[in-house]
Amino acid sequence: MVTLANLRVFIEKGHKVTVVGPSPYHYYSGMGPGMLGKTYAPDDIRFFTQQAVEKQGGNFILGKAARIDPEGRKLILESGETVPYDVLSFNVGSYVPETRIIGTSRDVFTVKPIEKLIDAQTRILELASRKKIAIGIVGGGPSAAEIAGNVWRLAQDYGQKNPGIRIFAGKDFMSKFPVGVKKRISRSLKRRGIEIFESGYVKKIKTNKIILDSGESYNTDVIFLAVGVKPSPIFKASDLPMGPDGGLLVNQYLQCTEYPEIFGGGDCIYFENQPLDKVGVYAVRENPVLYQNLMARIEGRALQSFDPGPDYLLVFNMGDGTGVLHKRWMTFNGRLAFKIKDYIDRKFINTFQQIEKK
Ligand SMILES: Cc1cc2nc3c(=O)[nH]c(=O)nc-3n(C[C@H](O)[C@H](O)[C@H](O)COP(=O)(O)OP(=O)(O)OC[C@H]3O[C@@H](n4cnc5c(N)ncnc54)[C@H](O)[C@@H]3O)c2cc1C
Repeated sequence: MVTLANLRVFIEKGHKVTVVGPSPYHYYSGMGPGMLGKTYAPDDIRFFTQQAVEKQGGNFILGKAARIDPEGRKLILESGETVPYDVLSFNVGSYVPETRIIGTSRDVFTVKPIEKLIDAQTRILELASRKKIAIGIVGGGPSAAEIAGNVWRLAQDYGQKNPGIRIFAGKDFMSKFPVGVKKRISRSLKRRGIEIFESGYVKKIKTNKIILDSGESYNTDVIFLAVGVKPSPIFKASDLPMGPDGGLLVNQYLQCTEYPEIFGGGDCIYFENQPLDKVGVYAVRENPVLYQNLMARIEGRALQSFDPGPDYLLVFNMGDGTGVLHKRWMTFNGRLAFKIKDYIDRKFINTFQQIEKK
């Protein structure tokens, strides 16, 4: 985002900039569950990438990068088009692997890309106007919790007072978080009738059906896949150095360990010095270093090191106007927690939305 905001600087120095993206917009995931629950409209949470690039004199290509040829310094798009580069920045994020889906199941929505939540919302509202809806959420982490809370909110506002919402959390819901966080989130969801299953993993997903390892099956109208995300498959396809999770292996300068003209940030990298959680907080902290280093590489200057920094603040949007906030030893829940998240998220996206208006 910081590099996108400063494209004009590259262009004024005589460089040519090409940005490739599968959508003219970039959706901010921190506000995605809130958009699903209609706390936010799509316009509130998205950044008009194409306009920001073109207004600053860059070239925007609507498409998807498939792989690169690192020796020939060429980016190859899914369309077959190639884009040559001197310096390349990978910011392709992560995706939800759909391996558990059997056949061509309908009404299954991954929680990423965030745009999919718009389609899920449309489908839920269409079904909710005709019948009592049943929603199944596969996954036991924060995105499963936020999706559940915000689907509940959507159902309430559209006249379904008792929707059937079930989270299939494997063996331990919110297992990577302190007990106080898990307790507060579970209490908030269960109080509203949302069921959390921790008795075993999902074996199969079929159209309108979730089948557990135990053989038990549950009928659902809409299924969300919120199982852990994986870095983009581009690095494997390009035979680039990768970390154990398949992310682009980068050194302390956010620079590919084998090809010094390639950089990256966010969910798609594996930071050699220490593994980083796949949270937006790190993508945001990497932003200024990535921008500085892209420019420094072009100009032959020294690169800056990235320091992941101290523990980060986490606030979960529970969908009922409350949040659960956690940082180090401090955990609390309630309306104030959500207000803090709302303030931080709006400020973040507003900063970048200003670029579209310049
Ligand atoms: C539902 C949900 C809620 C979350 N809430 C929070 C939160 O509140 N706080 C927090 O810190 N983290 C949160 N996260 C984690 C957060 O989403 C990620 O850590 C963050 O988005 C990483 O940023 P990124 O820029 O690396 O990737 P992304 O935000 O995923 O952006 C990647 C971009 O690359 C594009 N792209 C993908 N593939 C290609 C390709 N082949 N070619 C070209 N472009 C491509 C995508 O369209 C997208 O625009 C949440 C995640 C989810 C799923």
